[in-house]
Amino acid sequence: MASRTAAKKPQKMNIKKGDTVRVLAGKDRGKSGSVLSVKPKDGKVVVENVNIARKAVRPHPQKSPQGGIISVPQPLDASNVMLVCPRCSKPARTTRHTDAEGRRSRKCKKCGELIDG
Ligand SMILES: [Zn+2]
Repeated sequence: MASRTAAKKPQKMNIKKGDTVRVLAGKDRGKSGSVLSVKPKDGKVVVENVNIARKAVRPHPQKSPQGGIISVPQPLDASNVMLVCPRCSKPARTTRHTDAEGRRSRKCKKCGELIDG
């Protein structure tokens, strides 16, 4: 998964803010966390406690009175994470599902659970 230049084709994102995802590749493989933000343009997601970079911060009167080292989660490729199904609590392949009222959701291929969004 170490492509140097990111492919600039738009990606279909099936991951949304607030989802719980499992990391499939990279140094944090096997971790899971909730999605803090999604960057569809870059095909990237920011996941809580995953891909943490330590950043030195100077003391700043408003932002960080003490300065020091803070931990910031960095965006990682959406293709390296997989949505965790709330019902089977496993990384799940999902399909698009539209119900009778036209509401769209994602559906776990394993257990058939409808996942919001
Ligand atoms: Zn499931």
